[in-house]
Amino acid sequence: MKPPAVRYARAGDVREAVALLAEHGSDAKVLAGGQSLVPLMSFRLARPSILVDINRIGGLDRIEQDNGSLLIGAMARQRDVELSDVAAAAVPLLPQALRYVGHVTIRNRGTVGGSLAHADPAAELPAVVTALGGELVLEGPGGTRSVAAEDFFTGTFTTVMAPDEVLVGVRLPRLPDRTGVAVEELARRHGDFAIVGVVAAVHLADDGTVDLVRLAASGVDSVPVRLHAAEAALSGARPTADVLEAAAATVDASIHPADDVHAPASYRRHVARLLVQRALGAAVERSGVER
Ligand SMILES: Cc1cc2nc3c(=O)[nH]c(=O)nc-3n(C[C@H](O)[C@H](O)[C@H](O)COP(=O)(O)OP(=O)(O)OC[C@H]3O[C@@H](n4cnc5c(N)ncnc54)[C@H](O)[C@@H]3O)c2cc1C
Repeated sequence: MKPPAVRYARAGDVREAVALLAEHGSDAKVLAGGQSLVPLMSFRLARPSILVDINRIGGLDRIEQDNGSLLIGAMARQRDVELSDVAAAAVPLLPQALRYVGHVTIRNRGTVGGSLAHADPAAELPAVVTALGGELVLEGPGGTRSVAAEDFFTGTFTTVMAPDEVLVGVRLPRLPDRTGVAVEELARRHGDFAIVGVVAAVHLADDGTVDLVRLAASGVDSVPVRLHAAEAALSGARPTADVLEAAAATVDASIHPADDVHAPASYRRHVARLLVQRALGAAVERSGVER
């Protein structure tokens, strides 16, 4: 099915995009890579009357390190971030997670900002920015504001963004050298959205205790969930098998999965616990390696 007829405007800069969004309100939609929006329009699940194309705005595709952070422009293509040496050196969890996003053809067009703004609770990038405590940078008629990842996602496909705001980028803290990272997912086929996904980063101090742990899950709530209790169970401890199991046992109380056509909630709970244990184990095993 083809999308319905829609008006089209190409914004030359972010200010123009914001002005167009402000003029048309919730009838307007930003067009980024189109990998979620266009299928939704084809299925008549989204009916914007005007698309505001931000693909030609210069400077929104940057991938750079700045003062201990990795800055990624909203229009950076998922595939470019996946292959970026700068991103891999600062936040190795990113390329690892991006390999699970659809297929290469989708990642060639799909953008980092599009995935975050779309806010699918099963998506990988929202889980990564939530785990790492990233900050999303929004521009609207009143100027620029930053929102912490845990405050950005408010429900399935919904965020704190106003209809006249544009997501311009995301800032992620650089992970220390020798941090081990892991992504574990259960999906029906490679390239499908995960039924449950877990992303993890672990760094060990010289004495072998955990001095940094970041953990989040997707597909277990209406938003990506940072697993604070599991992080606390591991922090400062030696990551023995018993400690990893105890950390994974806290997950059940942190998540609120729903029954749906893909899996019952009880199954998602079971899988989340197993994947957390597996992801933490893999991240611990990979820690200590120079990158
Ligand atoms: C077959 C298939 C499989 C897929 N599998 C996965 C998967 O396994 N995991 C996964 O995470 N994703 C998956 N995706 C989705 C993919 O990652 C999309 O690229 C992503 O969700 C949206 O990015 P986009 O740049 O294409 O955004 P678009 O489709 O252009 O936009 C998506 C939404 O975000 C809004 N938006 C986009 N950019 C901005 C911005 N800068 N500011 C404000 N609002 C904005 C749009 O208005 C729209 O509402 C899949 C897609 C397909 C078609």
